[in-house]
Amino acid sequence: MMTRDEIRELAAFQADETKGACALSFYFQPDPPQDRSHRREAIVAKDIVKQALKSAAASGKNGSLHADLDRVLDLATNLRGNARGKAVFACSAQNFWKEYELPPHLGGTQIYLQPQFQLKPLAALLGAQPALCVVMLDRQRARFFDLRLDVLLEHGAIVHMLSRSASSYGYNGYEAGHAERRVSEEALQHFKAVSERLRADLERGAWERLIVGCHDVNWPEFESHLHPYVKQRLIGRFSADVASVSNEEIRDHAGALLNQWITERASTKVSEALEFAKANGRGVAGLRRVLQALEGGEVQAIFLTENYSARAVECPHCGHLDAHLIASCVACGHRTRELADICDAIIPIAIQRNIELFYLKEHDGLDRAGNIAALLRFRSDQTTGQVAAAS
Ligand SMILES: [Zn+2]
Repeated sequence: MMTRDEIRELAAFQADETKGACALSFYFQPDPPQDRSHRREAIVAKDIVKQALKSAAASGKNGSLHADLDRVLDLATNLRGNARGKAVFACSAQNFWKEYELPPHLGGTQIYLQPQFQLKPLAALLGAQPALCVVMLDRQRARFFDLRLDVLLEHGAIVHMLSRSASSYGYNGYEAGHAERRVSEEALQHFKAVSERLRADLERGAWERLIVGCHDVNWPEFESHLHPYVKQRLIGRFSADVASVSNEEIRDHAGALLNQWITERASTKVSEALEFAKANGRGVAGLRRVLQALEGGEVQAIFLTENYSARAVECPHCGHLDAHLIASCVACGHRTRELADICDAIIPIAIQRNIELFYLKEHDGLDRAGNIAALLRFRSDQTTGQVAAAS
């Protein structure tokens, strides 16, 4: 499983071009399940790597890139039948090789040879994925899971074995009533213990958002014990029986709730950013303004339409990014270099600075605003002395 620190490490990586080093990024997209019998995916992957080998040879690139490509070719040959996506980041000149299994939503099999790793497919996939906790429970059991990038990992359970159930005492007389009260008292203690663990885990940063799976009858009772902070982090709940539910069912239910939440949140936040932009508040629209805000350290979240791409220039000396294709840097006067796609510069910055990236499939407002916008933590050009709180 890929951690945020690993993604940050990828974003910070820079191949030493003076030594002819090159950062290789390879993404493997398996065929959709209904086409799996054709087995085209591995052939496509091999062709793409072979093509890259040819052009590397033609452009006289050095031996270390060749070695990386050979190794990726080997790997691609063995990808036949792989149902999951895969990403490889390599630069043997700098002793770097990382392989990751990913959900099969990478947009296509591709290879990139650049000074930095290509993180766009990864960023689109990660989107604004929170660290998600899924808790499955009933009146005596609770199981805790992490769900990240389609991978479900269990990390502990709480089990309170209830006393003999009320029914086993028969339904008449003091005994039965007493036993029933004891059972519900025990269930209450159990829900409190589960709720307490969730609070403690949230406080130590183990998760950011929560999904609960339980029987409908248990939900109101459990919900009433949730700490208010925990409740604010709740994405949703689904109905399931903790004793018999499979990991796949948990992943599917929770994944569906998560995707819906991400889509709705992206849409709400981008509308907010665009409204703020119109009112000269905590939002900006269009590449020029987004780059300015990024340089000012003001950005909290960036919104892009799915296939957004734009040319821009970068100053290799001070790092200034400019939407105008100017030959020399406005900040330090050095010669700029042209970027075929500004996203190659924006994405690593966003990942390193923990700026949320939202990719939107369709959004009329964002289309009209130049396909890129940002929500700001504050605005440095408004010197009211008051910094608006980021929400
Ligand atoms: Zn500069």
